[in-house]
Amino acid sequence: MQQELYIYNSLSRKKEVFEPINAPHVGLYVCGPTVYGDPHLGHARPAITFDILFRYLTHLGYKVRYVRNITDVGHLENDADEGEDKIAKKARLDQLEPMEVVQYYTNRYHTYMQGLNVLPPSIEPKASGHIIEQQEMIREILKNGYAYESNGSIYFDVVKYNKDHKYGELSGRNIEDMISNTRTLDGQDEKQNSVDFALWKKAAPEHIMRWPSEWSEGFPGWHLECSVMGRKYLGEQFDIHGGGMDLKFPHHECEIAQNNACDGDMNVKYWMHNNMITINGQKMGKSLGNFITLEQFVDGSHELLEQPYSPMTIRFFILQAHYRSTVDFSNEALQAAEKGMQRLFTALNTLEKLKASDKSSFNLSEIKEKCYQAINDDLNCPILISHLFDGVKIINSIKDGKATISDSDLAEMKELYKTFVFDILGLVSENNEAGASGKLTESLIDLLLNIRQQAKQNKDWATSDKVRDELKALGVIIKDTKDGFEWELE
Ligand code: ZN
Repeated sequence: MQQELYIYNSLSRKKEVFEPINAPHVGLYVCGPTVYGDPHLGHARPAITFDILFRYLTHLGYKVRYVRNITDVGHLENDADEGEDKIAKKARLDQLEPMEVVQYYTNRYHTYMQGLNVLPPSIEPKASGHIIEQQEMIREILKNGYAYESNGSIYFDVVKYNKDHKYGELSGRNIEDMISNTRTLDGQDEKQNSVDFALWKKAAPEHIMRWPSEWSEGFPGWHLECSVMGRKYLGEQFDIHGGGMDLKFPHHECEIAQNNACDGDMNVKYWMHNNMITINGQKMGKSLGNFITLEQFVDGSHELLEQPYSPMTIRFFILQAHYRSTVDFSNEALQAAEKGMQRLFTALNTLEKLKASDKSSFNLSEIKEKCYQAINDDLNCPILISHLFDGVKIINSIKDGKATISDSDLAEMKELYKTFVFDILGLVSENNEAGASGKLTESLIDLLLNIRQQAKQNKDWATSDKVRDELKALGVIIKDTKDGFEWELE
């Protein structure tokens, strides 16, 4: 582990040298999806960001325990303390068991993460599998005086907590502003203060997902699961907690408060947050009509897409921006990413076929050094990729006889590209061949149909029918149109 990795800590708001609490072990917790809908771009970004971190730490020789949870209970609409549970709502609308919804979308999530070549975490715990532990933590917080019961629900007492600890440190908010910015309570509210949040909610009669407790039959608050599962699998103190920037407040702020209310200590050493994705400059949202699922990207079915984009194109595109910057999806940008990635993989093929000379006409260790510097600088993948492209230029000049490479450098360069492109960036040369053969198939069908067209013009019905029938047998559906023909595969 000779590399010195700097990561930006959202809590201290500066880059810090990464020093694990208990090297070579590293505990990494990342907030996973709430599984009530199809995976979309918003899921791809944190998954890819922390996949790079997981891969790089592993490359450096750390033994990483990577926990990424599945939220299957307690996440209410609008991330609030009131409203319907997102899973239960979907179950009601689709007339399914809540756990059917959870299983279905968990499977979908896994399928698409695999397509994006995101490695599976070491542990993937579910909130509903940790109700007992969540109840235990509520008892601890109650015992320490930072929570109160109200009508069968338990709320975290943020005002009291703020007297002993600082609430709002991660998101840079202060409690007075928060109180003055929220509605005043009307006396009907179960909370003592508008800033308080639910640890346990008494279930309304129509609420399906419910568990018994001494307070009421109910369900845990959304923020509690991550406090509990982080502590259970990574210990009271662990190294890195990640998630999307939108989770900083209230989710992560509440998580910190819950943990501090239990043991009085900051539980996480480094907080990391990835920035958001916009589409053509706009925030992604169902109501804006720009909510594109990963399936739609892959089959190109969304009206905003000019063509399908492969999962690797999406991955490469996301990696071309630093994880703390926003990423703006547009067709032009995706097409540029697609071309760039092809250029990189073509150069890797060229690299395999290069012939070595007596000595190198360039400095390979300089390129290697720069690649490490980039990734060590808070996982700066766009800079890393630009250095890899500097190498691509050299590879192409060697091929053209304008530069040379020594035997040992050639071996080292192959190793360098393997390490960075495949192991760390997690890119896969995806069916370049299938893509090429797909294009070839298309051209061949067009060619045959043009021959058929000509045969028809020559009144050679036998040939024309033969081409049509044989293509039909192969699953090609031909439609004759005014201007010629159209075809599609069955
Ligand atoms: Zn979480």
